[in-house]
Amino acid sequence: MEDKTIFDKILCKELPADIIFEDEYVLAFKDINPQAPIHVLVIPKLKCKGFAQLQDIEVMYCGEYLKRISLVADKLGLSNDGYRIVFNHGPNGQQTVNYIHAHILGGKQLNWPPG
Ligand code: 5GP
Repeated sequence: MEDKTIFDKILCKELPADIIFEDEYVLAFKDINPQAPIHVLVIPKLKCKGFAQLQDIEVMYCGEYLKRISLVADKLGLSNDGYRIVFNHGPNGQQTVNYIHAHILGGKQLNWPPG
């Protein structure tokens, strides 16, 4: 059986999470270890291991995922002041959970460049 990540378990409600948005395409929940006043993760319901594997996902689904990330940021009240979207991929990107997730970071002035 394919390895089940923490996010698979959150998606099927096997593990609890502070869910802030859910529809047929995505689940958005607060990061357990926030790196900004607002730090939310958005995962697609269609399993995809990482950003590199997005190439295997239907364009329509990728579009719906991207739109939901924008929608969730808006629902969090971040659209006016701004925010950052991060996809960590692979070891050099310090991806720790092998289920694609967009980090939405906001609620303060963020620094650039990242490390
Ligand atoms: P990555 O480094 O893979 O891009 O980010 C994984 C993120 O998942 C981290 O920011 C980490 O804090 C978060 N995380 C890890 N385990 C859990 C969990 O059980 N619940 C929630 N809500 N977030 C988690």
